[in-house]
Amino acid sequence: MARRKFIAGNWKMNLDRKGAVALAEGLVKAAANVVGCDIAVCPPACYLEAVGQIVKGSNVALGAQNVYHQANGAFTGELSTAMLLDLGCKYVILGHSERRHVLGETDAEINKKVIAALDAGLIPILCVGELLAEREAGNTMSVIRTQFDGSLAGVSREKLKTVVIAYEPVWAIGTGKVASPAQAEEVHLGLRKIIAERYNNEIAQIVPIQYGGSVKPDNAVDLLGQPNIDGALVGGAALKVDQFMGIVAGA
Ligand code: PEP
Repeated sequence: MARRKFIAGNWKMNLDRKGAVALAEGLVKAAANVVGCDIAVCPPACYLEAVGQIVKGSNVALGAQNVYHQANGAFTGELSTAMLLDLGCKYVILGHSERRHVLGETDAEINKKVIAALDAGLIPILCVGELLAEREAGNTMSVIRTQFDGSLAGVSREKLKTVVIAYEPVWAIGTGKVASPAQAEEVHLGLRKIIAERYNNEIAQIVPIQYGGSVKPDNAVDLLGQPNIDGALVGGAALKVDQFMGIVAGA
């Protein structure tokens, strides 16, 4: 079964309200005739509502950059899955390298969020990826395997079918250093083998695996042309309509 390409923009902690609204409006217009590729944007939480109003009913879906696993209560500063659904979110990015390495999130914490998101009907975009030192030590696949097992513990076969995985080598995020198509494809194929081992081959063929790390219009075609690369999670280039749509065109 052919997997649909999926391009998602992670706006991180960028833009102001005016900029977020203008970017969303530009993308909705530019994406109006796109077929055969799913598109999502993940604005900062404080602009989810404004962006959600703009993308509603369009070709552009809404995603959040994080969620908390508890349903409600005394968790200052956090947002629940129900709140994200209320705002119109379909996706939530979980386990992004900045949350793992800057904010200290562990696989166990990410796992609770993945389970809460799936239980609520949100689609997690689960990020995994190695540090440069881990790659240089030859540990890329063991790092990915540990993150996969830890983040997805207890996730059933049926639930895994709705998860999106993003392979994001940490050394390629926001650095301008992109993994070569062959380097990325090797890990994507390795991830599919892990899914087949842990679940089964049918599910391994269903789960979309995005690549993330300095994706730009000029490298998108080669990356997205690899058999196991099903889309991109885009940071910097997601902040400009023409660059983001250039990547969508590459898909
Ligand atoms: C990201 O934020 O997930 C990312 C891949 O960023 P960039 O495209 O800027 O490397």
